[in-house]
Amino acid sequence: MPLLVMKFGGTSVADLDRIANAAAKVKREVERGYDVIVIVSAMSGRTNELVGWVESTSPMYDAREYDAVVSSGENVTAGLMAMRLQEMDVPARSWQGWQVPIKTTSAHGAARFVDIPRDNIDAKFAEGMKVAVVAGFQGLSEENRITTLGRGGSDTTAVAFAAAFGAERCDIYTDVDGIYTTDPRVSDKARKLDKIAFEEMLELASLGAKVLQTRSVELAMRNNVRLRVLSSFEDTDETSGTLVCGEDEIMESKVVSGVAFSRDEAKMTLVTVEDRPGIASAIFGTLADAGVNVDMIVQNISERDYEGHTEAVTDMTFSCPINQVSRAKQALEAAAQANKLGYEDLIVDTEVAKVSVVGIGMRSHAGVAATMFKALAAENVNIKVIATSEIKISVLIDRKYMELAVQALHDAFELEKAG
Ligand code: ADP
Ligand code: ASP
Ligand code: MG
Repeated sequence: MPLLVMKFGGTSVADLDRIANAAAKVKREVERGYDVIVIVSAMSGRTNELVGWVESTSPMYDAREYDAVVSSGENVTAGLMAMRLQEMDVPARSWQGWQVPIKTTSAHGAARFVDIPRDNIDAKFAEGMKVAVVAGFQGLSEENRITTLGRGGSDTTAVAFAAAFGAERCDIYTDVDGIYTTDPRVSDKARKLDKIAFEEMLELASLGAKVLQTRSVELAMRNNVRLRVLSSFEDTDETSGTLVCGEDEIMESKVVSGVAFSRDEAKMTLVTVEDRPGIASAIFGTLADAGVNVDMIVQNISERDYEGHTEAVTDMTFSCPINQVSRAKQALEAAAQANKLGYEDLIVDTEVAKVSVVGIGMRSHAGVAATMFKALAAENVNIKVIATSEIKISVLIDRKYMELAVQALHDAFELEKAG
């Protein structure tokens, strides 16, 4: 029997009517002859509520109990979806992660898949079940504890099941009708793409486009899963939405394919650090040990007169997620107290955002950075930090200019027009 994976995100299962609407889409695929694995998220807002309860109960919470609580939203939707399908005469059964069992690492809150054994679900399909509904976002550690995969993790559950069961396609149903040149909620000029390359989607996702969890794209790319994003609120068929696929399938020839942004950034500067071999290692080793995800880095070398001689000093600036600022600060202060490093001041700027342009065409085209900087200059947007890689350029700017910068870049690279 051919098999499809269909994933429904939070807004697509936000209430009983929406669950019924999603179930109708599943039933249609069953009628077309597919066995289906449905992956469900928690009802929209539920995971945030659960996280809130955890943080109010225990600010320095035990990560194992965090996962026990925040994974529970998906259990409710899985059971309701299976029940709704049964009401529609579709043989369906639900699975929580531990029942499969979805085996993961023990990194609570950011667990990775280790194994998804097929036996249990395959046995039920063999008995005539048509739909397996699996709770997304969760798994089971080697220590027999419930784990979660990080926010947005149901996308990754869906792709992992598609890979494990050799699904014909992995359809991600959400509240937009595909992947756009930028978030359609920020720019009304955003244009829906028919196809996007894995590499580009991987960059866009990791730079803030939360339409797919980064790891889901990584996993799809590695396992060659046909991954599609489409609307759960519209009538859809085989041609709907956006296909994430290999570069060889892409016809568009634009240099830049999309603009991504991330609001949750902070910039930290260590002022007047001694410039000597090993200083970067001391700073970033300290931050890594504290679990801080450093993103962009700039170092400015200067000289100063000190007790009658000139010595080289540097200002070290880096960015990290805004919710890791206090952890970063604590770690650096502790390292300074232990004389592992020295600095005169630590400046924290939490009013920044990162805006990035992404495109595989950048590999073979010069001048993308120049166009980007010119467009930002024309809007008087000051660039604080720049980072580039083969297929992306990112800048850190004042957060209040984020939407303006996204629009300006979307215009500058003419993304509203098909390539
Ligand atoms: P779900 O709950 O279905 O997982 P998410 O909220 O995680 O949905 O992801 C869908 C959202 O991603 C959209 O509502 C949209 O605002 C946002 N988004 C960001 N960048 C893009 C993009 N380039 N294309 C489409 N949607 C995007
Ligand atoms: N419910 C989880 C979250 O809100 C996982 C998901 O929806 O993908 O992050
Ligand atoms: Mg999501």
